[in-house]
Amino acid sequence: MQVQITLPYQHSQADLETALRHRFGADIPYRILKRSIDARQHRNIRVTYSVTTDTHDPAADFQTLIARQKQQLQSKEVMNARPVVVGTGPAGIFCAYWLRLHGFTPVMLEQGPPMMQRIRDMARFMKQGDLHPWSNICFGAGGAGTYSDGKLITRIRSPFISFVMQTFVDHGAPEEIRYLYNPHLGSNKIRQCIKRLLDSMEESGITIHYNTRFTGYRTSNGEHISGVETHDGQSLDCHALFLATGHSARDVYRLLRHRQAQMSLKEFAIGVRVEHPAVAINQIQYGPKYRELYGSIETAQYRLASTWKEEARAVYSFCMCPGGYVLNASTDSTGVVTNGMSNYRKSGRFSNAAIVVNVSAADLAERGYDGIDGGLALQTELEATFRASVNTPGSSHIVPGQRLQDFLQGESSSSLLDSSCLNPVAPSAMHKLFPEFMYSALRKGFTSFDRKMRGFSSHERAQVFGLESRTSSPYRIDRDRESLRSPSHPNLYPIGEGAGYAGGITSAAVDGIRAAQAYIQMLTGVEGEEMTQKSKHDSEP
Ligand SMILES: Cc1cc2nc3c(=O)[nH]c(=O)nc-3n(C[C@H](O)[C@H](O)[C@H](O)COP(=O)(O)OP(=O)(O)OC[C@H]3O[C@@H](n4cnc5c(N)ncnc54)[C@H](O)[C@@H]3O)c2cc1C
Repeated sequence: MQVQITLPYQHSQADLETALRHRFGADIPYRILKRSIDARQHRNIRVTYSVTTDTHDPAADFQTLIARQKQQLQSKEVMNARPVVVGTGPAGIFCAYWLRLHGFTPVMLEQGPPMMQRIRDMARFMKQGDLHPWSNICFGAGGAGTYSDGKLITRIRSPFISFVMQTFVDHGAPEEIRYLYNPHLGSNKIRQCIKRLLDSMEESGITIHYNTRFTGYRTSNGEHISGVETHDGQSLDCHALFLATGHSARDVYRLLRHRQAQMSLKEFAIGVRVEHPAVAINQIQYGPKYRELYGSIETAQYRLASTWKEEARAVYSFCMCPGGYVLNASTDSTGVVTNGMSNYRKSGRFSNAAIVVNVSAADLAERGYDGIDGGLALQTELEATFRASVNTPGSSHIVPGQRLQDFLQGESSSSLLDSSCLNPVAPSAMHKLFPEFMYSALRKGFTSFDRKMRGFSSHERAQVFGLESRTSSPYRIDRDRESLRSPSHPNLYPIGEGAGYAGGITSAAVDGIRAAQAYIQMLTGVEGEEMTQKSKHDSEP
C-alpha cells in the first residue's frame, strides 16, 4: 500500500509515525519513497511524504541480476581482457564499478590528478590565478562531479537510479538521498563520497592511472579499436573502450572528428549566473515573515522557465545553488566559464543559478556557425570575449560581473557589490558581449521571471556573472540506441555528459551503468534484459 502524509513544516519523526499509525490502524514497517516541501502558502508551509508498506529493498534485485550475469560471464575468455574506461567522472566511475561487480578488472585513465592534489590546485587557482589545464573544476579525480553542487535529482527514469543512490549511501552519503524529492549532497559531501568510491574501486582491483591523458587510439581494420594511446607514450591493448570524458574535453572531440567517428551537433544553452542574497530568495519563496514562522527553515530554491513557442526560444534556470558560491569553472586560459556550488548545509549568504537561453542549430547556422562544429565555435568565441573583458592576455583568473539592473538596462556597472565568488570579480559590460538574440532573450526571460517571483529581477543587490556556457555538450557522439555502441567503432561506447547522453551526476552515472550493462549483454548473448530496457537515455534539458 502507498499513502501520502502531509505534515506542518516543523514536525518530528514521531509526528510522522503517529500519522502513519493513524492511517494504517497499526504500527507496520514502512519505507519513505519521497519527501517534498510545499511552500505555495507562505503561512502554511508543509512537508508531504509518500510512504509505502512494501519494504522490499530494490538493492536485492541488483544482487540477483549481478550474480546471474557474473555466472554467465565466468567461463568467457574475454574476462582476461581489461576494458578501458577514460574519465573518472560519474559516468566513468559507475561504468567501471558495474564492470568490476561482474568480475572485470577495468583500467581507468584520468588526465587530472588524484583528489587531494586537485583540491590544492584549485585553491591555488582561486587565490593566485594559476589555472592548471588538467586539474580544475571540471578535470581531475571524480570529474566535474567532484566540484558539483551534489544535487542528485534527475529527470530520467531508470531502475538504476536506486542503485546509484544506494552506492552513494554505501560510500558515506546520508540515507535520506534514497527518498528526498530533491536529494542534495553538497560539494563537501559528494567529494568525500567520490573519494571513498574511487579508493574502494582501486582496492577492489581497478587500476586508475591519474595524470594520464588519452590522446589517440589504433584500429585493427579501420573500425575496431585495438588499443589506446596516452600523452606520455604508453599504449594499452583494448577490447572495449568506454569514453566518459565530459563536456569540456575539447581535445577528445578534435581527435574523434579527425578520426571521423560519427558525431552530430547537439543543441545546448548559454547565459549568465545570477546571484541574490539568500535572504531575498527565502523571502520571495517563503514570505517576508518566514523566520518568525518557521525558525531555521532550509534555504529556498527556485526553478524558472519561460518559453516563446513561435520563436522557438526558451530561457530557464539551471543548476540552482541555494546558499551557494559562484565558481570560476574555466578549463583553460583562453576563456572564462562560470558555474555554481553549495555545501550540504546550504548555509552561504547568497543563492545563485544559471539563467540560460537555448541555442539551436538554426541559431548557429543563421550566424555563420555552420556544421557540426558550430556549437563549439560559438561557445569558444564567447568564452574568449568574456575573458578578455576583464583579464590580461593569457589569464582567466577574474570573473566578469555586472549588477542585474545595469545588465537589463544596458548600462555598465561602475562597481560590483559583495558576492560569493571564490575568484576575484570585476565589472564588465556583459550586455554588449552577447549576440543580440541571446541578450534580448535573457532580458525577456528576466522580465517574465520577475512576474513569477516578485522582486527576482528587480532586486537591487542581484548581480550576474559570466559566461555560463558549459551547461551541456555542444556535440553528440553518436551511438546505437540499443547496443550503445558507436556506428563507426563497434567497440567504442561514448557515455555520459560529454557524449551527449546525460545532463547531471545521476543521469551520467546511470548512463555509465547502462553502457557497461549493454557490453555485458552483448557478451552473454542475453538481449532485452529488463533492467536496461526500462531505462530512458535522453539527456536532461
Ligand atoms: C561546478 C559544477 C556544479 C555542478 N553541479 C551539479 C549538480 O548539483 N547536480 C548535477 O546533477 N550536476 C551538476 N553538475 C554537472 C555534473 O557534474 C556533470 O553532469 C557530471 O559530472 C558529468 O559526468 P561525466 O562523467 O559525464 O563527465 P565529467 O564529470 O565531466 O568527467 C569527465 C572526466 O574525464 C576526464 N577526461 C577528459 N578528457 C580526458 C582525456 N583525454 N584523458 C583522460 N581523462 C580525460 C576529465 O578530466 C574528467 O575527470 C555540476 C558541474 C559543475 C562543473
